[in-house]
Amino acid sequence: MQEVVAGPPKGLELFASSRRKEPLRIGGRAAGPLKKMGLATVQDLLQHYPRRHVDRTQLRTVQELKQAAFSGGDVGEVQVHARVLKIDAPFKIRNTKRTMLKGRIGDETGAIAVTWFNQDWVARALRPGVEAFFYGRLGDYRGSLQMTAPRFELIKDGSEPFNVGRIIPIYPATADLSSDQLRRVMWETLASVEQIMDPLPDGTRARFRLMSRDQAVRIIHFPEAKEDVLAARRRLVFDELFTLQLGLVYRKRKLERTVQGIAHPRPEADSLAEVFVAQLPFELTGDQRRAIDEVAGDMNMTYPMHRLVEGEVGSGKTVVAMYACLIAIGGGRQAAFMAPTEVLAEQHHLTVRELLDRAFGPDEARDLFASVSRRPVVRLLTGSTTAQDKQRILEEVAAGEVDMLLGTHALIQEGVEFKHLGVAVVDEQHRFGVHQRKRLREKGVTGEPDILVMTATAIPRTLAVTVYGDLDLSILRELPKGRRPITTSIAAGEEQREQAYELIRAQVRQGRQAFIVYALRDESDKVELRSAKGEAARLAAEIFPDLAVGLVHGDMRSVDKEEEMTAFRDGKTDILVATTVIEVGVDVPNATVMLIEDAERFGLAQLHQLRGRIGRGEHASYCILSTDLDLALAGQEDNVAAAHKRLTTVAESADGFRLAEVDLEQRGEGQLFGARQSGMPELKLARVLHHREEIAAARSLAEEVLDADPELRAYEHMALAREMRDRFPEESLDVVQSG
Ligand code: ADP
Ligand code: MG
Repeated sequence: MQEVVAGPPKGLELFASSRRKEPLRIGGRAAGPLKKMGLATVQDLLQHYPRRHVDRTQLRTVQELKQAAFSGGDVGEVQVHARVLKIDAPFKIRNTKRTMLKGRIGDETGAIAVTWFNQDWVARALRPGVEAFFYGRLGDYRGSLQMTAPRFELIKDGSEPFNVGRIIPIYPATADLSSDQLRRVMWETLASVEQIMDPLPDGTRARFRLMSRDQAVRIIHFPEAKEDVLAARRRLVFDELFTLQLGLVYRKRKLERTVQGIAHPRPEADSLAEVFVAQLPFELTGDQRRAIDEVAGDMNMTYPMHRLVEGEVGSGKTVVAMYACLIAIGGGRQAAFMAPTEVLAEQHHLTVRELLDRAFGPDEARDLFASVSRRPVVRLLTGSTTAQDKQRILEEVAAGEVDMLLGTHALIQEGVEFKHLGVAVVDEQHRFGVHQRKRLREKGVTGEPDILVMTATAIPRTLAVTVYGDLDLSILRELPKGRRPITTSIAAGEEQREQAYELIRAQVRQGRQAFIVYALRDESDKVELRSAKGEAARLAAEIFPDLAVGLVHGDMRSVDKEEEMTAFRDGKTDILVATTVIEVGVDVPNATVMLIEDAERFGLAQLHQLRGRIGRGEHASYCILSTDLDLALAGQEDNVAAAHKRLTTVAESADGFRLAEVDLEQRGEGQLFGARQSGMPELKLARVLHHREEIAAARSLAEEVLDADPELRAYEHMALAREMRDRFPEESLDVVQSG
């Protein structure tokens, strides 16, 4: 048993402040393991919540056990108070390395057998005559009743049993520290804490019908009744979500109050941005319209825009981004447009130029009529830009001669100096956190640039509010009119693969193009998967010798990659074999078939993203999810069943938002928060998918509190303020740049 050397001081402000966090002062064997688990303070320990509870309030006699067992049904785990009648020496089970230990325990009403496996120490702990509480599963072994590997607690004179007569918490154990040991430490620590401070004002607590934090923490560990755990959990979930929202809203508001942005004039009818929209070869969708209005509104504010455009694949986010850029350019500022890959940057460059040509006349004309042309000057800067070109471009950018600079993340990382950056667009970037924003800020000279982040990772609004709660959100759900739905099917095995090849051939004959996507780049010994490289050669030689087959993967030199992409875009190759480098943004409307090999290897959202590369033109499109799994085994093997279900879900739904949700449910939310990088506190009990109402409530309460008390200076908010700072890394709340 662990010995608590000294409890923490009375009335400490648990959860309240990192500076005042009391270190755990626990001696004995538990100290090391606790530290290893990252539990260094009283607060850490008390927030190590149990996974479940076990009801050990019931005691039964041996006779009751027998009656219960023989009246049929599963008796489950039971508890008896009994004496050890007999305990045999452990012996080796034949042909195995396991040992077994048998004994008999009993009370006045009868006796039953007990067995343990691989626990020889039990023979030393339980001598005949010793009394103990035994807790375990009751089973039937060859017609006689026995308890298998029961846990037990010895009864010594004068000492109260610890695990008996109460509902006990079960903790995620580690190799060094059992759930039992941890329970003991928790109990002692809780007993030594007089009162856990409550950061919520009484009024708020009453309004949301929440118990006090002191009660909640005690109950979640050691409830008197199992039902109480729900209410305790509710309170603690509320706290997690509320301080999270408080921090996010605080950060956002503080930024709005204190950071000097650029108030771009709202675009008039003859402005660059509006002329651009008027000249588009299509009508904007309603969602695009709304997003554009929101962007114009934000950019007009005196504080910088921080807006996230979340859009279904193919919903036309680029146009929204262009609009933002043109607002800035129209007002005499510069725009930066960042893409996650070179392929994508190059493609944006092409698209942007095409759209600008259309609206403002060709680039060449501008050179001739520089004085009259309004056409913005656009440059592309990537890793493959030659040193000489780069030098020139950087000079032009610094001189303010370039209106719009496109490229990869290098744009914010290397020594790129803008003359007057007005807006930065970050496309398809899942990893755009507080740090990157800081970098951008440093690029601003006369006021901080506006920031527009675009993502095709469709997440529901409540979820976005949790993860990106400090950004404003525009959602593009609607697809442009005239899109033909994509027919998605599942192909299992060789025969159906042949059919897919036939479909590709037929489409190419009609002038269309196809993607074939592989999970792997190279052949691998470890996994029996097809690889892009290996298959490209085979497909070109054996399957489609008469067609032009191209190959792109992430490891190619960018010039080669771009060459392949250009060839495909220009229709010079019929089939493009690829890895997931084409996952984001590649836009070739003539491509109508996509065959995805080993499709079960991909996540739902990823399959949807990939599929979004087709169905972009006026032709009907087909996506085939191919797998070598034997789907007939779905009834027997869980992993096959799961894979089958995933593929079916993608085949049946074209709704990225729905797929993203299913994906999150299956893979957990951790990765979503991970993607947000630092600046995001951890959620221990709250689950974004299951606590939507709570999130909404926490959000509006956070707004309400900060409306009334923007800096949380009121006496009743002091504890809240400390807690918020405790949960957010310091620099992430401190939004004002010094120097
Ligand atoms: P994503 O949101 O996936 O980035 P893009 O911006 O690449 O989508 O747009 C996909 C395609 O749809 C492009 O070819 C684009 O020109 C076209 N597009 C965008 N908006 C519309 C619209 N309102 N009507 C028709 N086509 C559109
Ligand atoms: Mg895009």
